[in-house]
Parts: sequence; structure tokens; C-alpha cells
Amino acid sequence: MSPSRLPVLSPLAVGLATALLLSACTPREEAAAQAADPLPEASAPAIRAHVEFLADDLLEGRLSGTRGYDIAAGYVASEFAQIGLRPGAAEGSWMQPVALVESLSLLPASRLVLRPATGPAVTMAPGKDFLPVASLDQAKVLAEAPMVFAGFGVSAPDHGHDDLAGIDVKGKVVVVFSGAPSKFPPEVRAHYSAGLTKTQALVDRGAVGILQIQTRDDQQRTPWERLVQQSWRSRMAWANDEGVPNGAWPQLAIRASISPDSAAALFAGAPKTLDDTYAAAEAGTPQAFELPLTVEQERHSMIRQRQSANVVGVLEGTDPALKNEYVVISAHLDHVGKGAPIGGDAIYNGAFDNASGIAVMLEAARLLASGPVKPRRSVIFLAVTAEESGLQGADYFVQHPTVPREAIVANINIDMPVALAPLADITAFGAENSTLGAVVERAAAAEGVAVTPDSKPEEVIFVRSDQYAFVRAGIPALYIDEGMRSTDPTQDQAARVEAFRKERYHQPGDDLSQAIDWPSLAMLARLNARVINEVANDDSRPSWHPGNFFGETFAKPAEATPAPTP
Ligand SMILES: [Zn+2]
Repeated sequence: MSPSRLPVLSPLAVGLATALLLSACTPREEAAAQAADPLPEASAPAIRAHVEFLADDLLEGRLSGTRGYDIAAGYVASEFAQIGLRPGAAEGSWMQPVALVESLSLLPASRLVLRPATGPAVTMAPGKDFLPVASLDQAKVLAEAPMVFAGFGVSAPDHGHDDLAGIDVKGKVVVVFSGAPSKFPPEVRAHYSAGLTKTQALVDRGAVGILQIQTRDDQQRTPWERLVQQSWRSRMAWANDEGVPNGAWPQLAIRASISPDSAAALFAGAPKTLDDTYAAAEAGTPQAFELPLTVEQERHSMIRQRQSANVVGVLEGTDPALKNEYVVISAHLDHVGKGAPIGGDAIYNGAFDNASGIAVMLEAARLLASGPVKPRRSVIFLAVTAEESGLQGADYFVQHPTVPREAIVANINIDMPVALAPLADITAFGAENSTLGAVVERAAAAEGVAVTPDSKPEEVIFVRSDQYAFVRAGIPALYIDEGMRSTDPTQDQAARVEAFRKERYHQPGDDLSQAIDWPSLAMLARLNARVINEVANDDSRPSWHPGNFFGETFAKPAEATPAPTP
């Protein structure tokens, strides 16, 4: 623990201290004292108990649409009730039902063949040379089309980069690199790296397929072998009332990732080699040209319907006007379920990803609901489903909010806080975009931890968890995660996180055998509660910084203006 961290007080002691304080103070002093530290101490044992239940083998990895997830959802609802929240979904329910379409690629039946203008066809091997993207709406898709190469597939003329200028992708399969140019500012890079942004841009221009190649940097971060190892996982998307899956892109008949070792074959007879294009992408040079071959693909997918739910609890605000505005704190409850065994273990428990985030959220809820001063705005605690399948539960909530969407003033997300040593710092992804950044600075100072800027902007983390669904709706958001420094010089948090990412992340090893630093998770619960408290109590709602990329791209003018002070 940091020496500057607040002393541990039992809730009873806090209550007594508050009572003593109140008796000796004027109302004004009393309000100031409470504002300075209005929260009870967080309980590391309570957080540990939540994680131990949620990451138990009994829950079988909490895959959305399975019994294990439903048990986890029931647990969260039960905890919400015990904390004193009220049900936040329709008809007094804790559960917001989310219908899901699940699809699994059937690798052995899949085919991908390259046909050059002259010379023999090249047949690629499924699960080795390519990984098909499962179709959400057709069990079998067979198509053939000509190909173009288009760099990152990014059209951002405002930011001085347009791979799609001067090339016609209509009716073509577009070969693109993962990611976006490193010359972009981090938030711009994050947005254009997102699969949704890229896919939409290509579909809008009439593309009929996308073949993706990892950049050399992405190959380092996520080796191809790892993608192959994870290919047993299904894809999911939320479905509307007619059962139509969100983001199915039926226009895209051909979709796959191509292995780095096989990608050179796509450039046979092309004006540039694969290595030339890697170099141009790394230099940030826009590029596009026709590829003198066609590609034929046959995709087989096993599609099924699943039912799942987001769990929604509300802490009612105390201010007569502001209680109709909401701060949403979210964490995903799902993980990847049971899968390919590693070391004889087939249960992917997801202890850090994201049982720990749910536990931090539950403890933050308890602190806010049991503190001496309740927040003025209402707070929605949201445990979402199907994050692991592409932020589906959060997107469903934002598209079908349980309160008017314009009444949501901010989203604070918690995803996979990997505390493997006593934390000396935190990272607040997205903090630089809005007034939430200053709030997290104050909360961290009060907890005696530093705020370290995102050290790996190339991982575009701000678009990779549930907050991005809120950002796309123009709602200022923040994602608070662990830092890399420890208060104990003998414990190397950075090295332990690195090892976790290599050896346990999205593997059966993300389980309770890890040396989880529970007091650090308790600190994160208090820190999140402080942030929520300040946002919920401020006279004005959070806003994007003037000229901010996300604010300019997504926020409607009405949502960017602060609410009038009552
Ligand atoms: Zn995950």
C-alpha cells in the first residue's frame, strides 16, 4: 500500500467519525468535510469473494448465452439488491434481455483459392494459411471476385491520409492491413483501427469482401499461431426483434484473415511486393493498386440463436432535477467459456477478464450506496454481456437504453484490471479527450496513486472495450485500468502484466491460481467510486474538450452543451 493512501477505517469508525464531525461543525463545514472524503473504505475481502465466485470452474467461463453466464448474472443481480440498488431494466427487472446470434466457422469445409490471370491456382489451407470470418446470417457462402490492395483501408482526408482515393473498390475484395497509420494522433488512430469503422467505409464504397493481413507490429503483438489457437471461438452479435443480427454485413461475401507466411501470394504479379507495402504502411504512405488475380472463397458457418442479458442496477440520485441524469458505470460479465484445452484445462475462467472488473464495480456500488452522502445524479451499474464477441452487450444497451440516451452524461468502464503487485499508478484510457480527465486526476491524487498516460497507443485500447459503444453515441467516457508501477520495489508489476498477457490472457490460466493483489483492486473500487461521485455531483455534465476528435465526430451539438444548473 502507498504510504499516502488513506488509513483503513471500518464503516463503523467512519460513521462515528462523521457523527463526531457533524456535531462540531457548521453545515457548511460539514458539507466540505464530506465532500473531501465522502466514501467508506473499500473491502479487499469482499472483492476477493466476488472474484472467487465468478471465476470458479462451476461457471464454466461465463460464455454469453450459457448457464454459466446466467448464474453469474443472477449473482450480480442478487448483489445489486443487497447493496440497495433498484432494478434498472424494463418492468422492474434487473435483466435487460439481449438476443444473440452466434456463429462458428467450420474450418475443415472452408476453402480459399487464388486464381492469377496466368499460371496455376493457389489453394490456401484453412486454419493454416487463412482463417475465415464466420457468417452471422448464411450457413454457406460461395463467391468469387477480383481483388484490390488498399493499404490500411483508411479514408481520412481530414488527417492527411486516404488509402481509398483513386481506387474503385466496388464489386472487389479489398486486401487491407490491420490497424491505422502510426502518424495519426492516438484517438484518431484508435477510431480508424476499429473494425467497425473500417468495414463500414469499405461497404459504403461497394466492396464485396475483405481479406486482412496483420501489420508486422501486430504480428509481434499477436502471433498468427495465437489467432489459429483461438479459432475455436465463435462470433456473436445482438439481434433485433426480427432476429436480424447487428453488423452481419451480408454484402461482404468473402472475409478472412490471411497468415503472414501466405500473404505474399496475394501480391503475385502486383506492382509492389508484400514487403514494399509493409514498408509504405509503416512510413504512413497511402497506397492502393489492383491485384491481377481473383479470389474464390467458400465459407461454412454453424449459426444458432442464444439468449443472454445485461444486468442493470440503479442508485437513485438525491437531487430533484439531476436525478433524471445518469452516470453509467459498466463492466463486462462474460468471458470466452470452455474451449481448446491448454495443459489439460478447458475452462477459461476469466478471473482478471473480467471477474475482477465486475468485483470492482460491485464494491464501488456498495461504497456509493452506503456512504454518508449519496450522489446527486443517478448512477447506473451495468454488467454487460457479449463483450468478448465485439462489445455487443454494451452496444445493445446504448442502442436500446433503459433511460433516455441524452440523459446519460458519462460512461466509466472497468475491464480487466490486472493487479499483480501493490499498484503505484493507474492508466485512464480516453482521459485526454474530455473533462473526465481532470476528475480522474483528482480521484487518483486522493487515493495516493499516479496517473500514467497510455504507454501503448498502438494497441488502441480506447476502442477495444465497452466504453467505445458510448463514445460512438457521443457520450464522454473513461476506462480506468491498472498501471505498470508498484509501491513495492521487489514486485515488478510491469513484468508480471507482460507475462500475464503472454501466458494467461484469454487462456485457461487466467484463473484463481494467480497472485491477485486484492488491496489494489479495493483501491480501484474507491477510485472509480470517487470519479463517479464527482461526475454525479457536479453542477454541469462532463463534456468533450473543444475540438476533440471524438466529440467532433460523434457528439450532437445538444449533447455537447452542459446541462443548465438548477
Ligand atoms: Zn477478454
